[in-house]
Amino acid sequence: MPIILLLILLAIYAALVMACNPHPAERTVSWEEAGLRVDIAYPGGNAIVEAISGDEIRVRQDQRDTDQWWFHWSFQVHGAAGRTLHCRFSDGKPVGVRGPALSLDQGRTWQWLEQQAGDQSNAFVFRCPDDIDTVRFAMGIPHQQTDWQALLARHAGHPALVSGVLCHSRQGRPVEQAQIGRNGPAAPWCLLVTARHHCCEAMAGYVLEGLLAAALAADDHGRWWQEQVDLLAVPFVDKDGVEEGDQGKGRRPRDHGRDYLGESLYPETAAIRQRVPDWLAGRPVIVLDLHCPWIAGDYNQHIYQVGAEDPVNAAQQVRLGTILEASVTGPLPYRAGNDLPFGTSWNTDSNYSGGCGIRRWANTLPECRLATTIEIPYADAQGVALSPDAARHFGTDLAQALQRYMRETDLPA
Ligand SMILES: [Zn+2]
Repeated sequence: MPIILLLILLAIYAALVMACNPHPAERTVSWEEAGLRVDIAYPGGNAIVEAISGDEIRVRQDQRDTDQWWFHWSFQVHGAAGRTLHCRFSDGKPVGVRGPALSLDQGRTWQWLEQQAGDQSNAFVFRCPDDIDTVRFAMGIPHQQTDWQALLARHAGHPALVSGVLCHSRQGRPVEQAQIGRNGPAAPWCLLVTARHHCCEAMAGYVLEGLLAAALAADDHGRWWQEQVDLLAVPFVDKDGVEEGDQGKGRRPRDHGRDYLGESLYPETAAIRQRVPDWLAGRPVIVLDLHCPWIAGDYNQHIYQVGAEDPVNAAQQVRLGTILEASVTGPLPYRAGNDLPFGTSWNTDSNYSGGCGIRRWANTLPECRLATTIEIPYADAQGVALSPDAARHFGTDLAQALQRYMRETDLPA
C-alpha cells in the first residue's frame, strides 16, 4: 500500500475517533486582574471573562455548541471580601428574575440575590461580606454529580435501592441510574423518570430527588412504592454536559432531548432505548421526563406539563394533572389549567422537527400508559422562589399524585 494512502486512511481513522469521542476544547478557566481572580474550574462552571477592571467584571456565557442563544453560566470570584462586585453580561440578558443564584461556601448551599425587579437582566451588583473571600454566582441553582452522590449517601443501605451505571458518556463518565423497588418483574407497575436531557436544567434534579425520597420513605406511601413499582431513574441524561457546564439545549447537530429518532447520537439515549423495553417485560409504564423552561416570562414562571400530540396520552396527562393539583402540599404551586396543550404556544410540530423526544418515543411502547414532560421553572413559580427543598417537596407531591394515578388505573388481570 502506498504510504500516502496509508496516511490518508490513518487521518480518516483519527477523524472518526475524534468525532465519536469528542473531548471538550481546551478553554480558559481562570482570569486575574485588579486583585480579583475569576474561575470556572469546577463541575458546571461556564463563563468567558472579557475584562476585569476595578470591581467590575465583564463576562458572557459560553454558548459552546448550542445553535441558539441560551443563558446558562456559572463562575466564582476570589479576592472578593468586602468588595462591591459589579458583574455585567455582554451577550443578552442571562440573569433570571430573582437575580443570580449565589453561594458563599463553594457551591454547598445557594440563595437568590433577589435584586431584580421581576425580569431578566444583564447585570447585578453584590457586596461580598468582609469575612468571605470567594463567592460563586450562577444563572440557576446547580445540581451536579456530587448532589446525586449525597442523595445516595443519605439512603445508603436501603434494601429497596440499587444504584448503578446505565452506560458511559462520550467522555467516559459513568452515567448514573438508580432502581427502587423489588427490582424484579414482580412489581405490577414501572416508572421511568429522567432528567437533564438538557443539561443546564438543574432544578429538575431536585424534583427527582424528592420523588425518589418519597419512594424510599419508611412510611405507608414509601412501602407501597417499594412493593408496587419498579422505578428506574436516570438523573443526568447528558452527563458530560452537566459536569462540563454546557448549555446542552439546542446542542448541534441535535441535543439529547431530540435524540430518540433513527440512530441515537449519544450513548445515554441509545442505552435508554435499548434497555427500557427489556426492563418492562410487558409491564405497564409511566415515563416522566423532567425539564426546566426558558429563563423568564409566560410559561416560564409556573410548573406545567407539556401536552402530548397523541389524544389518548394527552387525556392521561389531564388525568394526572387533576390528581397532581389536588396532591400539592408543598410551597410550589401547580395548576392543571396551566398545562400547555399540544398545538399551542411553542408546543407545536415545528418545535420537534429536529428529532424525537423521549415522551414521543415512549408513547410508541405498547406498555406505555402515560408519557409526560414536566417543566420546573429555574427561579420562580407564580411568585414562589424555587429552592432545592421546595423542589424536593414538589417531587414528594408528584410521588403522591403518581401513586394515586396508578392505584386508580385498572390493569388487566
Ligand atoms: Zn429541556
